[in-house]
Amino acid sequence: MTAQSPITQDVLTLPRKTEEGAKRNLVGLSRAQMRDALIEIGTPERQAKMRVGQVWAWIYQRGVRDFADMTNLSKAFRADLAEHFVIEVPQVVTRALSEDGTRKYLLRIAGGHEVEAVYIPEEGRGTLCISSQVGCTLTCSFCHTGTQRLVRNLTAGEIVGQVMVVRDDLGEWPAPGRNPHDETRLLSNVVLMGMGEPLYNFDNVRDAMKIVMDGEGISLSRRRITLSTSGVVPEIARCAEEIGCLLAVSFHATTDEVRDKLVPINRRWNIETLLGALREYPRLSNSERITFEYVMLNGVNDSDEDARRLVKLIEGIPAKINLIPFNPWPGAPYDRSSNNRIRAFADIVYKAGYASPIRTPRGEDIMAACGQLKSETQRERKSKRQIEAETGS
Ligand code: SAH
Ligand code: SF4
Repeated sequence: MTAQSPITQDVLTLPRKTEEGAKRNLVGLSRAQMRDALIEIGTPERQAKMRVGQVWAWIYQRGVRDFADMTNLSKAFRADLAEHFVIEVPQVVTRALSEDGTRKYLLRIAGGHEVEAVYIPEEGRGTLCISSQVGCTLTCSFCHTGTQRLVRNLTAGEIVGQVMVVRDDLGEWPAPGRNPHDETRLLSNVVLMGMGEPLYNFDNVRDAMKIVMDGEGISLSRRRITLSTSGVVPEIARCAEEIGCLLAVSFHATTDEVRDKLVPINRRWNIETLLGALREYPRLSNSERITFEYVMLNGVNDSDEDARRLVKLIEGIPAKINLIPFNPWPGAPYDRSSNNRIRAFADIVYKAGYASPIRTPRGEDIMAACGQLKSETQRERKSKRQIEAETGS
C-alpha cells in the first residue's frame, strides 16, 4: 500500500436530530433495564418479558430503527414506544474506504465527541475494531491516543452502537424471514482495540458485549470477541468471569525498566503481577490462548535477547504473540523496527513453540491505525479554521 493508493472518503450527511432529548435510548440497555423501562411506560408486568424479547429482536437482529416497523406489535404499543423512546446509534461523520477493503469510520456521539471504528475484511471473516473511551487516561509513550486526555467513557449504547452502524454500512442486517443465525457474517469478529482502555470502562463494555454475545441479540460467540488491555490487573479476572471473551494484552516489553516507559501502568502492576493474572485467565474464562501484543520499536524492545526473554516469561501460558510493526504518528518518539529485525524476532518466538504472526498493516492509505483518523480530521478542521481566520472569511 502506498500513499498514492486511490481512496474514497465520503463526508456523509448527518441525519438531523429531532427534539428528542428527553426520550430514552433503548440501545445499550440490558434486558433487565429494558424490562423496567417498558413497565414504567405502562406495559403490564406479565407481558414485559415477552415485549422485551420482541423489541430486542427488532433492534439487534433486524437492525430496525423506527418503532413503526416493528410489525408484530400493536399499533398502540408502537406509538407508546415512539412517544417515550428512541433507537439511537452513533452518527457516521466520515467513512474512508481503503483500496484493500478496510473501512474506517469517524463517529459522532452525544456531546459532539468523536471516536473511530475500523472494519477489516479478511478471508472468510471480517473484524471490527471498536473504541471504548474518548481519549485514554493512560499515557503509553508509543500510542497516539495516549497523548490525548480522557474526555469520557462511552456508554454501553455507544459501544454496541458502533457494531450496529457498521452493520448498517455493510448492509448485513438479515432480510425479514431469514434466520439471522444462518448468515455468513461480513462482521464476524469484534476487537476492543480502538481508542481507550476497555477495562477502565468495565461495566459499559461488559453490558455492550453481553448484547453482542446474546443469542437473540447481535449473536456473535464470545470466542469472536477480543478485549485488549494494557494490563489493568484487578479487572482481568472480572473480564474472565463477567464477559468470558478472549483477552489480548499490550505487553510490549520484557523488562520492567522498559515496560515502565512504554506502558506506564506497569509501575502500578508490573510484569510479574500481570503474568500472574494472565496465568489465571484461561481457567477462569474457559477460553483459549491469550494474545500478547508486542509493538516493534527500533532499538527499544526488538532484540534477540528480548525475544528470548519474552518466551521465557510467558512459559506455561497458552499464548500467541502478535507482532505489530510500530505505526508512526507525527512527533512520535520511536521508529518502526526493520522488517528483517521483526522477522528475526518472530523466528525466535516461533521456534519456542508460539504462533508469532506479524500484523500486516491494513488500510495504510486511509491511516487506519490507532488514533490517526481522528487526529487527521482535527488537523484538517484546524487548518480550515486557520485559513478562515487568515482570510477573514
Ligand atoms: N488500551 C488498550 C486497547 C487499545 S490499543 C490497550 O492498550 O491494549 C490497541 C493496541 O494498539 C494495543 O496493543 C496498543 O498497544 C497498540 N498501539 C497503540 N498505538 C500504536 C502504534 N502507534 N503502533 C502500533 N501499535 C499501537
Ligand atoms: Fe491507552 Fe491503550 Fe493507547 Fe495505552 S495503548 S494510551 S492504554 S489506548
